[in-house]
Amino acid sequence: MVSNRYAVMESLNKITISAGALRHNFAVCRHHAGDAGILAMVKADAYGHGMIECAGIFVEEGAVALGVAEVVEGIKLRKAGFTVPVFILAGIINQTSQAAVENNLTPVVVDNSALGELNKYARRAGKEIDIHVKLDAGMGRQGTLPEGIVALVKEIDAYPCLNTKGVLAHFPMADDRQSSNSDDVLETFSSTARLIEKEIPHHCMYHIANSGGLFYVRGAQFDMVRPGISLYGCYPDGETGRQAATKNLLKPAMCFTTSVIQVRNVDKGVGVGYGHSFFTGRPTTVAVIPVGYEDGYLRKLSNTAQVLINGHRAPVIGRISMNLTLIDATDVGPVNVGDQVVLLGPQGSEEITADEIAGWMDTINYEVLCLFGHMNDRVFID
Ligand SMILES: *Cc1c(COP(=O)(O)O)cnc(C)c1O
Repeated sequence: MVSNRYAVMESLNKITISAGALRHNFAVCRHHAGDAGILAMVKADAYGHGMIECAGIFVEEGAVALGVAEVVEGIKLRKAGFTVPVFILAGIINQTSQAAVENNLTPVVVDNSALGELNKYARRAGKEIDIHVKLDAGMGRQGTLPEGIVALVKEIDAYPCLNTKGVLAHFPMADDRQSSNSDDVLETFSSTARLIEKEIPHHCMYHIANSGGLFYVRGAQFDMVRPGISLYGCYPDGETGRQAATKNLLKPAMCFTTSVIQVRNVDKGVGVGYGHSFFTGRPTTVAVIPVGYEDGYLRKLSNTAQVLINGHRAPVIGRISMNLTLIDATDVGPVNVGDQVVLLGPQGSEEITADEIAGWMDTINYEVLCLFGHMNDRVFID
């Protein structure tokens, strides 16, 4: 249940975000970053963790810049009072140029199509603005290829109110440590940087590393790094990364909890929930929880996911409905209405990770965090 101004009380379903974990993860990233500055990625409402609160923590910890995808997100940061550079990483188009300039956001441009508008609004505002250029160094998604980059930088610098301040690229598979792709992309990025430095007299800054680049690709730091998922306590390669890490472990910042709202003793051989997709194979204690697919607990998790009750794992049985899910709580000891149920996070000595849920959902931890965080009330704890 998403909060709104008509909310009258706290929802039973709650996302808690640990500020301490966020600070710890920032410190781990800083350790890997060396002398490079940290641009903290807070797009997608900080991967579901709350953009304004997270940005506040990361800036306090020393982030030199913040990164979002779209101008509207950047405006929210400015309205909240942030003064550090805010990068619009999905790029600027004509329609978003004015708002980007007026809110002092740092435009990332992918080609020359919005330069005229950017220059126009910069001139109107009586200022010069810093532009960062997105190079496609092998991502194959967005940006300008290496052969076009010098011309683009020269075109930017020919506008009186625009200055190329940086060149960035993005790794397509930095999370895959077995792949040689990142070394190829890094080489393309480095050689393009050398070419720019040779052809164009002023110095720009260079940045390429996402979390995978920062943790796994040697020499990818350059002037600035752009971690996202690692700030929130997950590894870009999920459980593989967590298992392989030996020190400075990242701490997951998000937990998702709810409460039992009914306990039922169900006979053997009873079909439970929509479609009777599960029949009890024994007399079963069923705990009902007020979580469903509207809370991001996807129907795909039916008959698959596990939750924690009394510090023990208990399986989801039957179909997840819009607002209700059934748990086989037979083996977890006494269960009562009001007891805490953990869907994501630790309880006792057990823990359910975003990676594990991602496995059940056939996706990646990023999507689990966005989904749960966007669809539920959040509280910050320290
Ligand atoms: C999202 C994003 C990042 C951060 O990626 P993570 O894998 O979450 O660390 C960095 N750079 C760009 C351009 C991005 O879009």
